[in-house]
Amino acid sequence: MLDNTYLTFDIGGTKIASGVVSLPPAAGAPPQVSDRCEIPTEAQSGGDEIRRRLVAFAEERLRACAAQHRHIDGIGIAAAGVVDAERGVIAAATDILPGWKGQRIAEAFAAVTDLPVAMVGDVGAHGLGEAIYGAGRGHKTVLSLGLGTGIGGAYIVDGRLVTGAHGVAGHAGHVVSGLGKGFLCSCGTTSGHIEPVASGSGLATLYNHERPADVEPAADGREVCERAALGEAYAGRVLERSARALGECVAGMANLLDPHAIVLSGSVVQAGPVWWRALRDGFMDGALELVRQTPLIEGELGGAAPLIGAAHAVRTARRGE
Ligand SMILES: [Zn+2]
Repeated sequence: MLDNTYLTFDIGGTKIASGVVSLPPAAGAPPQVSDRCEIPTEAQSGGDEIRRRLVAFAEERLRACAAQHRHIDGIGIAAAGVVDAERGVIAAATDILPGWKGQRIAEAFAAVTDLPVAMVGDVGAHGLGEAIYGAGRGHKTVLSLGLGTGIGGAYIVDGRLVTGAHGVAGHAGHVVSGLGKGFLCSCGTTSGHIEPVASGSGLATLYNHERPADVEPAADGREVCERAALGEAYAGRVLERSARALGECVAGMANLLDPHAIVLSGSVVQAGPVWWRALRDGFMDGALELVRQTPLIEGELGGAAPLIGAAHAVRTARRGE
C-alpha cells in the first residue's frame, strides 16, 4: 500500500522537471513516480524570473492534481546550487543560473500554497533517492557520486543527508587530483581539481588537450566514449587516465568516510567497460585494505532520483524528523 504523495520539482540549468512521487510507508518497496513533465529553465532570463516560472508551474501542477482528485501531502524541491534547506533559500549558485543565488523559494511557495515545502540541493536529492530507494538501499551509509556535465556528491547517513556547516558537503568534484593540474575547474581554480578532467565535459577537455595531430577534436565526453568503443586507442587511453584518477579520488573519499556503499550515477557511468575497469583499478590502488571491499554500484533511478529524494526530504520535514 502506498501513502505519502508529493509533488516534486528538479530545477537544473536547462529544464525544470516535475513529477508526482508516492513513497512507500517503509523503505524497501519501490516509490512510484507519475505525471512527469518539464518546462525549460530559461536560465538567461535571471533568478527572479526562474522563481516566478517555477511557482507558476507548481500552481499549474497542483490544479492538475486537484482535477484528478489526487491528494498531495507536500512539495519537494531539488534545486541546482547550494541550498539553505532550513530557510528555503538558494545560498550560492554558479554562472549557469545568473541571479539564482539569494532566491527565497520557500517564501514564494508559502504565498501560493499551505502545503509543507522542503528544498534540498539537486545532487543531495539525487543521493537521497539512490541511497534510500535505489542502488544504495539497505546500506546504512552511502556515498553517492553524480558524474555528468559536472561532478557532485552526497553523503547519506541513516537516511539523512550530511550537509555540513555551509551546505557545501559532498562537493566531490573539487577534491584534489594531479591530473587536473592546469585545467580550469568550474569553481575557478586551476590548481588541480578532478572535475575538469573527469566529468563528461572533462573527458572531452582531456582528450582535446593532448590529442595527436592526426586526431580530430571531440565535441563532448560521449564522443570520446564512442571513439573508444570503436577501437580508437587514443580515446581508450584518455578514458583510462581519467577514470583511474577519479577512482583514486573516490578511494580517498572512501578512506575518509568508510561508507557501506558507493553509488555512481550520471552520463559518465555509461562510458563502458574500459572506464569502469580503470575506475576500479584506481580505487583499489588508493583504498585502504578494509575499504577495498566497499561495493561500487551503478545508480538505478536515473532522472527520477532527485524527484524521489525531494519527496523524501519533504516527508522527513513533515514528520519533524
Ligand atoms: Zn573545483
